[in-house]
Amino acid sequence: MSEQLIFLNGEFVKKEDAVVSVYDHGFLYGDGIFEGIRAYSGNVFRLDEHLTRLYDSAKSIMLTIPYSKEEMTNIVVKTLRQNELNDGYVRLVVSRGVGDLGLSPYTCEKPTVLVIAEPLRIYPKELYETGLEIITVATRRNRSDALSPMVKTLNYLNNVLVKIEASLAGVSEALMLNDQGYVAEGSADNIFIVKDGKLKTPPGYVGALVGITRNAIMELAQAKGYEMVEGVFTRHEVYTADEVFLTGTAAEVIPVTKVDGRVVGDGNPGPVTSDLSESFRELTVTDGVKIHDESLNVG
Ligand code: PMP
Repeated sequence: MSEQLIFLNGEFVKKEDAVVSVYDHGFLYGDGIFEGIRAYSGNVFRLDEHLTRLYDSAKSIMLTIPYSKEEMTNIVVKTLRQNELNDGYVRLVVSRGVGDLGLSPYTCEKPTVLVIAEPLRIYPKELYETGLEIITVATRRNRSDALSPMVKTLNYLNNVLVKIEASLAGVSEALMLNDQGYVAEGSADNIFIVKDGKLKTPPGYVGALVGITRNAIMELAQAKGYEMVEGVFTRHEVYTADEVFLTGTAAEVIPVTKVDGRVVGDGNPGPVTSDLSESFRELTVTDGVKIHDESLNVG
């Protein structure tokens, strides 16, 4: 990769010049939204779905993104092209912008928009073969009626606290429950359990972000003839599942083999997880927007 260039408010700037004001409400209040997107072999995986979620998040917090969805598609593709990346991670952030010290978003004249594309550092490869050990943390997922977990806001303190708890316990991921004690999701991943060949994942309203990877896995599971339901469940069902796995843009599909000291199934990644993980890998290079598609009006 040549010198990294970051899209910041309409232009490409060097990494060291990509700075945002201390008066930006994204910094002062976590007032903004973001997306984590991934490119695989020149294909931006499900970019359209990511942008739909971004614009839905924007609508929910009454933030007007100063670009159309089509323009944003071109900005993401251009950022990958500028950085000569066919594989990588894209972080798209839209904050309320620069205002005064008050909470009111109405002092912010225009949103800050930035896109960072870089190679991705993921979990070590062997973890996909051995599976993750996770614990349940005390930190609960935000209540849906306080700050909807379905909106991908810049307010990730809830998730950061989960990471701290996990790290203190010596594991790299954790399970978050909602305020009623039902299973919600991981720190930045959705959770699936498999029992007798049937898959289950919590619905968004329980306290999960409706993940793009999650949706892809649900579609693949259904297409492959597995029974797949969105449903509410407790830790008991996680402990007694045959298989458990997490899904997310960064982690992809990662098996979980131990939860709160309980070995999942026989302690190895299970056949349903492996089957779906393989199909997901095939999908990542085909389903999306092609970085080098000449019909895109990237400019
Ligand atoms: N839950 C949370 C809280 C997340 O931040 C993410 C990552 N964006 C996910 C789930 C997984 O979503 P996706 O598959 O869209 O990356």
